[in-house]
Amino acid sequence: MSEFNGLLLEANLIDGAWTGAEGGSEIDVTNPATGEVIGTVPNCGAEETGRAIEAAARAFDSYSRSDLSQRVRLLQDLHDALMDNQEALALLLTSEQGKPLPEARGEISIGAAYIRWFAEEIRRAKGEIVPSPTRDRQLLVTRHPVGVVGAITPWNFPSSMLARKLGPALAAGCTIVAKPATATPYSGLAWGKLCQDVGFPDGVVNVLTGSARAIGGAIMDSPTVRKVTFTGSTEVGRILIRQSADTVKKVSMELGGNAPFLVFDDADLDAAVEGAMIAKYRNAGQTCVCTNRFYVQAGVYDAFVSKLKAATAALVVGNGVDEGVTQGPLIDEAAVRKVEELIADATGKGGAIIQGGRRHGIGGTFFEPTTIANATQDMRFATEEIFGPLAAVFRFDNEEEAMAAANATEYGLAAYAYTRDLGRAFRLNEGLDYGLIGINAGLITTVEAPFGGLKQSGMGKEGGSQGLDDYLETKYMCVAGLTA
Ligand code: NAP
Repeated sequence: MSEFNGLLLEANLIDGAWTGAEGGSEIDVTNPATGEVIGTVPNCGAEETGRAIEAAARAFDSYSRSDLSQRVRLLQDLHDALMDNQEALALLLTSEQGKPLPEARGEISIGAAYIRWFAEEIRRAKGEIVPSPTRDRQLLVTRHPVGVVGAITPWNFPSSMLARKLGPALAAGCTIVAKPATATPYSGLAWGKLCQDVGFPDGVVNVLTGSARAIGGAIMDSPTVRKVTFTGSTEVGRILIRQSADTVKKVSMELGGNAPFLVFDDADLDAAVEGAMIAKYRNAGQTCVCTNRFYVQAGVYDAFVSKLKAATAALVVGNGVDEGVTQGPLIDEAAVRKVEELIADATGKGGAIIQGGRRHGIGGTFFEPTTIANATQDMRFATEEIFGPLAAVFRFDNEEEAMAAANATEYGLAAYAYTRDLGRAFRLNEGLDYGLIGINAGLITTVEAPFGGLKQSGMGKEGGSQGLDDYLETKYMCVAGLTA
């Protein structure tokens, strides 16, 4: 289709060739806003994954030894190719994922920014010369690409989540076997096409679609794959961590979240509501850093709820390609049912729906932006990830109580707080068990800063100077006999 600039690929990229699955099996890809089938992708499994891993291993031999300046140039060209195709890529993303077009454009540009960031950052990935205890020796610490990387990504940010893995891997000199989510495979396949177009050698980037268990299993079982980078649910992350043990792979895990959003009596309430809207409703509430629980201090509770209600009423639900739409559909029927279950659970325990609460009148998987007041810790969303447009508002009396409630979860990805008290901001930074903390900000992801969770939200960082670390091995070399 011309609207996608030839970037809707219905084949997989293995060793530089676009191929189907052995036996020709295919999977339909559906537009969640319309229910229409956009196209198909190959239903690949272990066999094809094995070929991709072998190709990546062959390519690693030369690519890992290529000039740094050449890799930097390829990444810069990839950045430019992404931005040149931003509109087509955004449309492709909205078509398979559902988010409003302006959000999709933003995802493409931050993905491109990650590529540029790692092209710059690899030039500063220095080693060390360590002072030697004796004069006849020099001690060198050097850094080297880890090898073939397996990358598994989710459906909610199908483009930028791959960018955070491709960027550091390709900069470091690694080669990649990537598996995008089955619901949203086209954005990942488009990355493969652009990598090929700008001149990454065959086998450096391979992209496979199909059975998660079969492709994932082949990646995890292979001793050739030295590192696995995963973004997705904590449940699947646990499986992959277990599977990584047999071949002792490096793993980095960007897993689920259950973000608290604290509003203190001294907060600028208008700013807090503005932050709340972006931290809650971006991508229809389907982001790992989305607010799951609003904790609001008693003195401003009613005022915050009423301002949040007014701001939520301004959201426009519809097909993400339509002008003015700010909330698209949920990804599938199961996601809608989960939100319905959480609402039923909360209202059964005393929660008050003050806005929304039902499937949207336009049908499909559209859901009304919903606010529930009088939320309490015994409700399921206190501990479970909502992943939908549902704002649950809890009440608290003091800072200690708020901090304890915020930390009462197995997750530790993002937390937000609105306060004008600088001392409190630093107490929160120390006391909140979260990898990302936004003080008076509801959107904090940026390529310059390390992104990653604590506790069961994962391990490793993406972005920042730290984002390269997982793709580089450290070696120590001792050169002895240097005195005359
Ligand atoms: P998911 O069900 O865990 O799936 C993520 C990826 O893993 C998909 O590609 C999926 O393939 C694959 N997968 C599923 N089972 C597998 C297995 N047994 N072995 C290997 N791969 C397997 O997560 P999701 O529903 O796509 O995404 C939502 C979750 O991602 C949420 O929990 C969210 O918080 C988290 N997330 C975290 C971050 C972060 O940076 N921390 C960012 C975004 C999302 P199929 O699609 O084929 O099933």
